[in-house]
Parts: sequence; C-alpha cells; structure tokens
Amino acid sequence: MSAGSDLVRRSAADLADALASGETTSVELTRACLDRIAQVDGAVHAFLHVDAEGALAQAAASDARRAAGRPASALDGVPIAVKDVLATEGLPTTCGSRILEGWVPPYDATVVARLRAAGLPILGKTNMDEFAMGSSTEHSAYGPTHNPWDLDRIPGGSGGGSSAAVAAFEAPLAIGTDTGGSIRQPGAVTGTVGVKPTYGGVSRYGLVALANSLDQAGPVTRTVLDAALLHEVIGGHDPKDSTSIDAPLPALVEAARQGAAADLSGVRVGVVRELGGEGYQAGVQQRFDEAVQLLVGAGAEVVEVSCPSFVHALAAYYLIMPSEASSNLARFDAMRYGLRVLPETIDNPSAEEVMRATRDAGFGDEAKRRIILGTYALSSGYYEAYYGQAQKVRTLISRDFEAAFGQADVLVSPTAPTTAFPIGEKLDDPLAMYLNDIATIPANLAGVPGVSVPAGLAPEDGLPVGFQVLAPALADDRLYRVGAALEALLEKEWGRPLLGLDKLDHRIPEVTR
Ligand code: GLN
Repeated sequence: MSAGSDLVRRSAADLADALASGETTSVELTRACLDRIAQVDGAVHAFLHVDAEGALAQAAASDARRAAGRPASALDGVPIAVKDVLATEGLPTTCGSRILEGWVPPYDATVVARLRAAGLPILGKTNMDEFAMGSSTEHSAYGPTHNPWDLDRIPGGSGGGSSAAVAAFEAPLAIGTDTGGSIRQPGAVTGTVGVKPTYGGVSRYGLVALANSLDQAGPVTRTVLDAALLHEVIGGHDPKDSTSIDAPLPALVEAARQGAAADLSGVRVGVVRELGGEGYQAGVQQRFDEAVQLLVGAGAEVVEVSCPSFVHALAAYYLIMPSEASSNLARFDAMRYGLRVLPETIDNPSAEEVMRATRDAGFGDEAKRRIILGTYALSSGYYEAYYGQAQKVRTLISRDFEAAFGQADVLVSPTAPTTAFPIGEKLDDPLAMYLNDIATIPANLAGVPGVSVPAGLAPEDGLPVGFQVLAPALADDRLYRVGAALEALLEKEWGRPLLGLDKLDHRIPEVTR
C-alpha cells in the first residue's frame, strides 16, 4: 500500500495529529483522497461533483497557515465532502434534482462557511435522494449510490453519498442532513457514525429546505470523536437562521473523550419498547441487544421505557414533511434557478406554461408524490383532519420524550429496522421505503438529537447494524459520551479499530471515475 492509501484509512482526529506534527501535509492528504475518489467512485458513485482544484488550493492555504504556526482549527487541513443540499459558492448545488441542474449558488451555507473558516478543504458534493426525499439514494436524478459493503445494495438515504464516501475511505469526514433519518439511517447501513444535532443547534442558513421544522445538518464520520470534532466546527448560534438556538454548544469533544474510557456508572439508559422487536430484522435486534449488554457491563443502569405515541410518528411525519416540502418546492418555478423547459407544442408560452413544463420535466416521481400529498394535506377542508391532527401527534411525541427523559439520561434503539437492502427492491413501494425511518423520525418531530453508532455486522447477511442513542434537546454531549463508550467497548470486544470498516477493502473494486 502506498502512503496515500494508508492515509485515507485514518480517522480525522488521527490525521489532525499527523498534520500538527508535520508527519503529513494537507496537500498530500487531500491528494490521497482525490486519488481514492478517482479509483473507486466509478463503482460507488458517492460524488455528484468533485472539486479537485479548489480542494488542493484550500489544502495549500492550510499548509501555509500551519507553516506560519497559525492553524485555523483542530481540523485545519482535513478534507471533507458536503451533501449536495448545502449551498456552496462557486460549486454546483443540485439537491439530486434535474430542476437545479447547472445552478451555482452565489453564497455559502453557514455550515460551509464554517468549514472553510476552519480550514477544511472541500472535496466535492455528495449524491442524495432528490431534495432529500428517500431512504436509499435511488431517488437521485443522477443515478444511485452503491453501498461499499455490497455494491448491489443501497447506502441508505437521503444522504447515501456522504455516508458511502466516508465508508469507502474517499473522505475522512462528510456533512449530511437529517429530516427524518437521512444522516442516521445511512450511517447504520454503511457502518459509519452519523449525528443529527438538536434542532436549532446547527444553522440551516443555505441548507435547501425539505421541511424547515425538521431539517438539521450534522456530521458523518468513521468515529464518534471525529463527529464531535466536526460538530464543534459547524455548530452554534447563527443570526442568519431565526431557528438557531442562542446558547453555547455543550463540550462535545470532551464528552467523546470521556466516553472512550467506557465508564458509564451512574448513566441511565432507556430502551424504547416501541422501537424494536416485531418488524426488526433478527440480526439487527440481536446486535442491538448485545450492545445494550456491553453498556450494562460498563456500569450503565438500563431501564425499559415506553413511548406509546411513537407508533404514530411515521404517519404524522408523512403529513407534516410533505406539507412543508410542497410549500418549499413551490420556489422552483423555472424563473429563478436552474432548469427552464419551454413547452414544444406552444408558441409564445405563458409563464405558467413554462413553469408546468419545467416542473414536469425537472421533478422526479417522489418529489411529485410529496408535492401532491402535501398540497392535499394542506387544502381547505382537510387541513384540520390531516395537518392539524399530525401536529397534535407531534406534541404527544414530545411529551413522551419528556416523560422518558425523566426516567433515563439517554434513550436507545436500533437505528434502522433492517440492514442495507438490494438496489431496486423498494423503489416501487413507497410505504416499504418510508418504513426505514420508523426509529429515527420521532427525534426529528421532537427536535431532540440522535447518533447512530456502528454495532457490528448482522449474522444473517454480514452487513452493518446501527445503534441509535437519543438525548434531550441541547444535551448533545450525552450522545458523544454514550456513543464513544459503545465504540470503545465494541473495539475491545473485536480487538480492532474502526468497527469493521477495515474489512471493506476487498469489497470495493477499483472502477475509475
Ligand atoms: N427518508 C425520510 C424521507 O424520505 C427522511 C429523509 C431525510 O431525513 N431527509 O423523508
């Protein structure tokens, strides 16, 4: 193995140390990631756009800062990939949709601006389900991403590109967004770490909205500590986002380091009765149960908690999310951004006719489905029965969380009910697709933070299983403490780092991009 192929396998924390000690440079590291992308992304298709030139220029600037003794942050020089739903000045931003093909934003999302200010070279933009609607990345207008564990399977969604890029060692770090599970579920099925921060904890400015009251950007990484390091770069108050919380972030990196000591004495862990059991793959449930036992072994006090309204979370989500999405997607009107299709059969078409032709050609089936669902749920006469009812369920879910957090410091469940399924299997069955997020959606509805940590491979298919930890709003540090403890306990159990990702090499063929 060349030096470059060793470098891409290391954690971001480790790379930050290697940069600080002068063992490597950001240019060398960025080049190693770009080489890896060139080697494997033809098979994985995690990226929609790679910015080799821009990333190398940022890397050179980082090396100059280091040489001058003025690194901008702990992660200065560590490259990152960004989900294509965040606006990047000068770089295409498609949201996985034809309707935004060719759009180059004139500004950076706050998350992206913070990455740049902290010195992280941006490798490119990652693939996603169109406008973040989906659980498999198959709804991307630019073709699916393949799971590095088995290229015939989905990498989860909507942020399958970010998670696959990190799992395939194309990038040590990535940014995802999570409206109903799109960071955590891809994390689960690709064997990576994914964090959905507290709603309002990370700025949504420049994040193209799917559902404003649910969307949240967060870290996609290979270790819990790396997620904490990245979360501290992107998190915190932003006056440009009116839903951003004006409170200091808890000490996330410190919590992850504390967790790594794997001492959970005094920590109460609540197993959510409604998120597990029937409907969950046997091997997923088995790995989850074993992980809970490891936490017990580390001193945690485990209790069972019940959140009865969680059984209605999926139904409420699929009214609230399409309602917000249908109103958000109204801005793609063929006049302001991206695609404009002129109807061939009409001379001198009106603005409305251009809009209709553009939206017909520019939106995929899932986007259209949700526009119809949302418009229906918001229509007069049905508003109270659908949207109004769903909002009431949302309140009940928040109350269930409050009660459960009275009994436990964190709640845990499997992240997703199954391991990665074959590409194509659920494409024609929207309800089966929606069920992937059954365990992740409650957190979005209540605004609480969650992490998915790899919990080993399911015995029946050898594919990754995710373990979800949920904490009260603004207590994101608890995710890192318990997540890092679980990671350390599993590593001790298996005697190897990075939770099985080291097994991946023989599964990813080199297919030049
Ligand atoms: N899979 C869910 C959906 O399709 C969640 C998507 C997301 O979190 N962006 O809406």
